[in-house]
Amino acid sequence: MGNNHVTSLEIDLNSINHNLNYFKSKLKTDTKVLVVVKAFGYGSDATQIAKFLESKVDYFAVAYLDEGIALRNAGIKTPILVLHPQKSNLLKIYEYNLEPNIYSISLLKSLLELVKIKNLKKIPIHLKFNTGLNRLGFSKTNISEIVTLINCQTEVFIKSIFSHIAASEDLNEREFTLQQINDFKSIDLELTSQLNHKPFRHMLNTSGIINYANEAQFEMVRLGIGLFGFGNDVNETKKLKNVLTLKSVISQIHTIHKGESLGYNRSFKATSTIKSATIPIGHADGISRQLGKGVGYVFINNKKAPILGNVCMDVIMVNITDIDCNEGDEVIIYKTQEHIDHLAKAINTIPYELLTAISQRVNRTFKL
Ligand SMILES: *Cc1c(COP(=O)(O)O)cnc(C)c1O
Repeated sequence: MGNNHVTSLEIDLNSINHNLNYFKSKLKTDTKVLVVVKAFGYGSDATQIAKFLESKVDYFAVAYLDEGIALRNAGIKTPILVLHPQKSNLLKIYEYNLEPNIYSISLLKSLLELVKIKNLKKIPIHLKFNTGLNRLGFSKTNISEIVTLINCQTEVFIKSIFSHIAASEDLNEREFTLQQINDFKSIDLELTSQLNHKPFRHMLNTSGIINYANEAQFEMVRLGIGLFGFGNDVNETKKLKNVLTLKSVISQIHTIHKGESLGYNRSFKATSTIKSATIPIGHADGISRQLGKGVGYVFINNKKAPILGNVCMDVIMVNITDIDCNEGDEVIIYKTQEHIDHLAKAINTIPYELLTAISQRVNRTFKL
């Protein structure tokens, strides 16, 4: 992709640093930090984020093989956990020195067969246990079979064991979460008492670090959205710095007279004379069509400009009737967590989805 699209996502590395240090300040100094850079680093730029953080964190995680390969191809040397490896990808995972999450007996058996055939040695794996999310993970009842499979070979070793909390941001679910933590602890005891070495343990995501650092810090945490300034809690978010600024420029200004319409399906009809600005960002760039018809808004010269009519694939039109502006002026699609939170709430979603929706067509720039 070239760098000629005027719509850009500015990534503030200084803010990333601030946010990382904020979360580190909540942890013991020897707790390892894994940064999750799946989905292009939450829609930003996984490679640049990883390069920036390489010397500051202990681990990275990605969801899928290709994301790990991209980091290795960019020269990242840090250990990388692949959260959702697939059986057919296991060999490639080793070729690229990536470390798989092994979450079922069947996946473990496939791996053990593979290491024998390929004569691989000292292969690190990470075992994920399901403690209530019911997404991926072994159950407690798998432990004896895991022990049997692992203890009769030397090619593969369990580097860490982990689990994932279902509602770490929701203190109404505190009791459930504490039960998950207890279950994980008893899984750890039962499993490691039968192994000849002790894997390290991790359970907390961003809001887990905020709410359960005392109960479940273990030896590592897995930081994701928090790095980008979202604490899944208004007060926590205030202590974080915004990382992502999405901006564009005005392509054209129109005057729409009373009775005229604008947009596909004539989705906006003027009841008085108004001025509209056309902005080169659309639903193909990650501006959900649900933000159309006044639900979403941008800022031009610090003034709110609501989206008029339907969001198009490549553009939106916004209302600038009361804004003094010209073609070529800068448009801030968003630059604060508050705005991103607002837009997400308005269309019944969460910042995670808004951020990861920013398409690869949008130019990425970096600020330090
Ligand atoms: C995505 C993910 C995380 C990070 O979660 P955040 O809420 O963004 O901090 C941690 N662990 C696992 C297993 C994940 O899939």
